[in-house]
Amino acid sequence: MPDVVIVGAGAAGLAAARRLQDLGVSFVVLEARPRIGGRAFTDTETLGAPVDLGGHWLHSPTLNPLMPLAERYGIRVDRSPGPARLAIDGRLLSGAEAAATETGIADGFARIAAARDDGAVSDLVPVDGLFEAAFLAKQGVPPAESSSIDFARYVWEGDDWPVLDGLGALVARHARSVPVELGTPVTRIAWHGRDHVAVETPRGTVEARAVIVTVPTGVLAGDALRFDPPLPGWKRQAVADLPMGSCNKLSLGLTGNPFGDVAGPVLMTDFGRSVEFLLREDGRDIVTMMVNGAFAKDLAAAGAPAMIDYAVGRLSALFGSAIRSALTGRHVLADWDHDPWAAGCYAVARPGAAAARAVLARPVEDRLFFAGEAVHDRYMGDVHGAHLSGEAAAGDAARAIFGGKAAPHS
Ligand SMILES: Cc1cc2nc3c(=O)[nH]c(=O)nc-3n(C[C@H](O)[C@H](O)[C@H](O)COP(=O)(O)OP(=O)(O)OC[C@H]3O[C@@H](n4cnc5c(N)ncnc54)[C@H](O)[C@@H]3O)c2cc1C
Repeated sequence: MPDVVIVGAGAAGLAAARRLQDLGVSFVVLEARPRIGGRAFTDTETLGAPVDLGGHWLHSPTLNPLMPLAERYGIRVDRSPGPARLAIDGRLLSGAEAAATETGIADGFARIAAARDDGAVSDLVPVDGLFEAAFLAKQGVPPAESSSIDFARYVWEGDDWPVLDGLGALVARHARSVPVELGTPVTRIAWHGRDHVAVETPRGTVEARAVIVTVPTGVLAGDALRFDPPLPGWKRQAVADLPMGSCNKLSLGLTGNPFGDVAGPVLMTDFGRSVEFLLREDGRDIVTMMVNGAFAKDLAAAGAPAMIDYAVGRLSALFGSAIRSALTGRHVLADWDHDPWAAGCYAVARPGAAAARAVLARPVEDRLFFAGEAVHDRYMGDVHGAHLSGEAAAGDAARAIFGGKAAPHS
């Protein structure tokens, strides 16, 4: 019997496994998908260059524990990306227009940072076009659906550095030594035994002394994974208070450069929708679109042709119709909303529910431990928050099992 079962091989589960390896604690990692990485995954094949389906930027890079790992593994990070260009309804803003708008956006985020009451962000900041687009791009939900105190706790020291070789590739590289049972969805966790848990999958049951659950709150809120007995009410309330936002991505292959001298990120409010483009990053013939919030969910539900149509239409409005003849016909689409193992992009605390992350993080009877982006108190929603939460849960589980004593396998 292994000491620990880890459910999920995303950034949190893999970091937990690495920490247990270091501690000499035995474990099994069970992953529903046929691949590791979860929401941090790099497709290196479809467009002939790395494309991140989920996380791509190292936020707060000077504090980010993944930055030294990128250096260790020789994974390239752009340390001086240019500022994002801004656009409204299909028109790029001039330098002077953008400067005034950027000040407004920064003011809005500063007001949230000073929040004292846990109301909605929309109570603090007048919701207008580009601020709302920027907020949706960060949270995946509009200001009216987000706790102001929760967002105020988020540590964001300013810079966002893209991982040119792929943030998913970095997570996978760090986990090279971790064995994972792929294609093994956990369907039930029985924790009524006094000193063990039984983790059921279609491929059999694994018993262990503790389990670290790293699945997104969207999965915890659904029926695919059940607990027996059910999780206590306080834990279920925390899950309900941390619903998932929406952010979906589409990358298109290009045959050349239809964007002239504009490259890098573009943030746009498009008739009330929050849209971002990443143009020819690292000089590659690829453009990526990110759509955020309820629109992202609806657009992805309409299917790949609708998403491609929308992207091409908006890029034509910004840069002219040359985009149409520059398409190779190859694309990568990531629809996280309709992905059963994610059910959204990242968890956001509802207004008034700023305590939910700490509650979600709390173990149940020293046998059920919880990790993942949703539980981190400062880097919530991010890959590095997930990574740190996984390491912390592994330490907690090892302490609960072995107390002050060393693990027998160390
Ligand atoms: C579009 C998008 C853009 C993003 N951009 C950034 C960014 O630029 N920078 C950043 O830092 N973060 C970003 N994020 C967030 C970041 O990707 C996530 O916060 C992070 O990867 C979450 O890691 P995790 O381990 O908590 O969860 P996950 O990566 O979701 O890992 C959980 C794992 O559990 C598995 N699982 C689910 N259910 C079961 C089950 N029943 N049995 C077994 N396994 C199961 C899943 O398949 C998954 O592999 C982005 C996310 C998205 C979707």
